[in-house]
Amino acid sequence: MAGCLFCSKSSPLIAEALGVCAGCIKGGDSEVLGHLRTVHRATRGLSGLPEEPPRDEEGIRCGLCVNGCVIGEGRRGYCGARLNNEDRLLEGGNLTWYYDGLPTNCVAAWVCAATTGCGYPQYALKRDGEWGYRNLAVFYNSCTFDCLFCQNWQWKKGVFEQRYTRSDDLAGCVDERTSCICFFGGDPTPQILHALRACETAQRIKRLPILRICWETNGSMATELCVRMVDVSLRTGGTVKFDLKAYSEELHVALTGVTNSRTFENFSHIGGLVKRRREPPLLAASTLLVPGYVDTEEIEAIARFIAEIDQNIPYSLLAFYPSHHLKDLPPTSRKHAERCKRAALAQGLKRVNVGNTHLLGDYYD
Ligand code: SF4
Ligand code: SF4
Ligand SMILES: [Zn+2]
Repeated sequence: MAGCLFCSKSSPLIAEALGVCAGCIKGGDSEVLGHLRTVHRATRGLSGLPEEPPRDEEGIRCGLCVNGCVIGEGRRGYCGARLNNEDRLLEGGNLTWYYDGLPTNCVAAWVCAATTGCGYPQYALKRDGEWGYRNLAVFYNSCTFDCLFCQNWQWKKGVFEQRYTRSDDLAGCVDERTSCICFFGGDPTPQILHALRACETAQRIKRLPILRICWETNGSMATELCVRMVDVSLRTGGTVKFDLKAYSEELHVALTGVTNSRTFENFSHIGGLVKRRREPPLLAASTLLVPGYVDTEEIEAIARFIAEIDQNIPYSLLAFYPSHHLKDLPPTSRKHAERCKRAALAQGLKRVNVGNTHLLGDYYD
């Protein structure tokens, strides 16, 4: 059982890698914040990625995300993807892709066109779910955050493999049964220019009348890029899925190593557009229920924020599974998930769902 270095509390819901309880993190004490920075520098070091967003003299500035790296020759940005190679930053293509039969277990599948048929016939091929069709899942090996609980941490290995897929070749994978593409990872943000190019080609050469473009992201991209991503999804019937990891800035920094300011700004921006296409929903949110850290108070604050923008935005609460640096925490308990769902509904949200329910159990709570 781990303990908090600052208040001496001990609990199975304190992660050893963090060494701090949620209360002390949210207290915002500068000593605690300094400790959290050290924790992230150490875990980053283990993966071989830059410990902090670089600010190299004579480097090239990358404006793709909130980290604003300045990258010297031969060095990489915080995300690992943006390598300065002979005075040019690589634009991406470090990915793996696969077909996922529809309906998938996408985070927005419970509300999207592929599964529910909403938006038929403009955005869905069938009224009752696109059985027999498939999603092209594009997993980018890079990310702008450093989540200690990363459930897809394999990107940290893939980022160094330097196998690139050209955007046209990726678009060529859209076949006569592909009705949606989902860009995720890692996160699509560091390789967004590659993704947008692939979308353009894919729309030109698609074989079916419908090809929805969806994104699963932490939302940290530059706002002008967010506008371009949303525009593609708006036109094609796709959904932009934002993972809102914590409302409290301190907790967000503790869990992800990075501020949540850009994510919430971008979410508000897209929120202003959701009335332009109600079905299928243009925007959806999700939050991982990390035991001991992301509890009712956090979910209430996030749900209130979403509801103030639009009460119809779908919100998924995802069960946590011990992973990456937070292996010593238990999975999310059933009670925790139920409490959080009630809290989200109480803020006025009309569509709240618990995802990954197979992981829920009667754990310490
Ligand atoms: S995309 Fe990568 S290199 Fe660019 S600012 Fe963000 S973390 Fe840095
Ligand atoms: S990629 Fe989009 S349309 Fe396809 S299953 Fe996932 S959420 Fe639904
Ligand atoms: Zn404490």
